[in-house]
Amino acid sequence: MTAKTIRDLLPSVVGRTVIVRSDLNVPLDTGKVTDDGRIRASLPAITELADTGAKVIVLAHLGRPNGTFDPAASLGPVAERMRQLTDRPIILAKDVTGSSAQHQAEQLDNGQILVVENVRFDARETSKDDAERQALAQEIAALAGTNGAYVNDAFGAVHRKHASVYDIAALLPSYQGPLVATELNVLNRLMVEPRRPYTVVLGGSKVSDKLAVIDNLLDRADTLLIGGGMAYTFLKAQGYDVASSLLEEDQLPVVQDYLQRSADGAAKIVIPTDTVVAEAFRADAQYAVVNVDAMTSGPGGSAALGLDIGPETAKHYAAQIEASATVFWNGPMGVFEMENFAAGTRTIAQALTKVKGLSVVGGGDSAAAVRALGFHDDAYGHISTGGGASLEYLEGKTLPGIDALKNA
Ligand code: ADP
Ligand code: MG
Repeated sequence: MTAKTIRDLLPSVVGRTVIVRSDLNVPLDTGKVTDDGRIRASLPAITELADTGAKVIVLAHLGRPNGTFDPAASLGPVAERMRQLTDRPIILAKDVTGSSAQHQAEQLDNGQILVVENVRFDARETSKDDAERQALAQEIAALAGTNGAYVNDAFGAVHRKHASVYDIAALLPSYQGPLVATELNVLNRLMVEPRRPYTVVLGGSKVSDKLAVIDNLLDRADTLLIGGGMAYTFLKAQGYDVASSLLEEDQLPVVQDYLQRSADGAAKIVIPTDTVVAEAFRADAQYAVVNVDAMTSGPGGSAALGLDIGPETAKHYAAQIEASATVFWNGPMGVFEMENFAAGTRTIAQALTKVKGLSVVGGGDSAAAVRALGFHDDAYGHISTGGGASLEYLEGKTLPGIDALKNA
């Protein structure tokens, strides 16, 4: 069965309490929201439901408070930002399903919006015990009274088998929110009949984080361009001396197997030909561009660290990206947080803006890199809001939060 969307819910929503699971997990600094991207993205579904006459209860997590109340993880600053962005009196409960949330939920009028506290203040949210999660889900559903509904708009959380994402959907009529619908639509275009040439760019720190994605996309993409920290495990597998660069020895056999599959006809795997090596992992470290067969000849010698792809590699990758009809990028090409090692990531980010087909950026740090380097979201076909969830989808895994909506 396919999931129902918010479009199916709106006609019957006047006077009903709708629980909206949103992804409001934003960065905070001394009680202020420093990047409100997720709040802005979540507001359309919330305000549309309220404007249509629903009583809206917003449910979200923030950080990892480990199942107890933690003032530093309160949704207070998020509710405050929601007030500023909507000019509405957003109500904040003091707890998740306790007396404050119950009281506020009962008092709600049509069109009003209540935010209950960080759902991870309740240890049952993330419990491995089905009965514990279900008990919390019952309490959440009870906030909606007799004729409630549930909307999951938190794509960033759909890979979690949590009470507010998974168990609740069995208790209330459940619907896909617009953010979830958009993400699935785009990610499907990377999985099913992608327009070709289809190029996947993978970087980031650890190859072990990305093995399952490589595994699944090897049979779907035409080309895999490898950069970032994981490139050195690929280089090592090809026999290069990678000095003291990030290396996952235990993954060498798996990487060798991928290279073999590539040689046998799966997607072409391309690895760097030059790299930026530094004498230390520091923003002001001495550095040089070297060919990958001469990494120990740079500053630092055998203690050298490869911290970025080199300019020749970046140029070659950019040309490949620009000539593609579908591009998925996950993982920075280097330590972009340090200016001297940001050039490779910048070149790739720039190249993706020139793609004439579909360009998708996935992954928390990759999305942050694009923004930190000054590129605009709308220069890309899509920037995925759910790092872990989008990767798990591209690994071909079933996402509990998506599955629960299908069966609801
Ligand atoms: P994403 O969140 O987009 O999936 P990752 O979390 O896998 O990306 O990786 C991001 C991190 O990888 C960044 O903090 C970046 O500094 C780091 N990184 C990239 N290249 C290297 C490298 N050569 N050595 C060490 N760390 C690297
Ligand atoms: Mg990351």
